[in-house]
Amino acid sequence: MYISVAIDGPAGAGKSTIANIIADRFKLMYINTGSMYRAVTLMSMRNNINFSNVREVCRLTNSLEMHFENDNLIVNGEDITDEIRSLEVSNNVSNYATIPEVRSILVKLQQNMAYKYNVIMDGRDIGTVVLKDAPLKFFLTARAEERAKRRCKEFEEKGIYVEYNNVLNDIIKRDYIDTHRENNPLCKATDAIEIDSSKLSISEVVDVISNYINEYIKENN
Ligand code: C5P
Repeated sequence: MYISVAIDGPAGAGKSTIANIIADRFKLMYINTGSMYRAVTLMSMRNNINFSNVREVCRLTNSLEMHFENDNLIVNGEDITDEIRSLEVSNNVSNYATIPEVRSILVKLQQNMAYKYNVIMDGRDIGTVVLKDAPLKFFLTARAEERAKRRCKEFEEKGIYVEYNNVLNDIIKRDYIDTHRENNPLCKATDAIEIDSSKLSISEVVDVISNYINEYIKENN
């Protein structure tokens, strides 16, 4: 039976943590599309290509071979999973992600992955663009302050000190760019189920989503 699950929402809403657990539970391939935009950003920054240089950013994007190995993103043979999570990449990624040509290259790659596997995919435009026909769509939200707190904790667990205010400002700035861009902005698909995770634990959110998936499997078996 073919299953595809879309999870959208703003930065730090818990999408990747939850998608990972659901992927394990239902044997789905987890595709973190934010990592792919982060990869384009990291590689552009390494090569001193500013986001205003659309031609060069596109040339570089086309030259990247990206695939996931478990939770790790491998780009041109290099595991860049940790590097793409830096605050520097976070601060710049939304600017690269507004480039329509970059979006269309990455959307195609993501759709190809979804043709081949049962997937759970998270991002900003999964339910509205990438997997428009997915039968299971979720829109995960939480207050910006709560999301910043969670991101700080993630950095702390990796032994990296970051200022709460810098993380909060990055989240607010990214929310603004992601929801206001012309091309594929972050918005809830009309048929997505909205879950506010501000006051829910990870396992509570996982349970809500799992119930919907189980219901879908029961109805379609
Ligand atoms: O999910 P994550 O916070 O890692 O995403 C990083 C950035 O990539 C987002 O702030 C957004 O600008 C961009 N993005 C996007 N479309 C997606 C996934 C991520 O524009 N499907």
